Amino acid sequence: MRQTAAVDAQKCDPASCDSGACAAIPECPRKIIKQEAPYEVPYIAGDPSVCRGCFKCLKACPRQAIAKV
Ligand code: SF4
Ligand code: SF4
Repeated sequence: MRQTAAVDAQKCDPASCDSGACAAIPECPRKIIKQEAPYEVPYIAGDPSVCRGCFKCLKACPRQAIAKV
């Protein structure tokens, strides 16, 4: 099966992103990375098959907190 992205809540620290806004969110072409509020740990929302496995989110994260699964 195609690999998708997952947020590792242990590694993620939204405080290391600008104003607590997850840097990966604007990079996702499918807009499936969600954050309830600034400084909250983001998550991949909805059906994982929507993720196209481009891993732009991995490159955007300064803490390597998004992994291929
Ligand atoms: S870019 Fe990485 S460290 Fe920043 S909020 Fe998103 S997952 Fe967490
Ligand atoms: S791999 Fe691509 S489509 Fe999937 S969550 Fe990351 S940026 Fe979005």
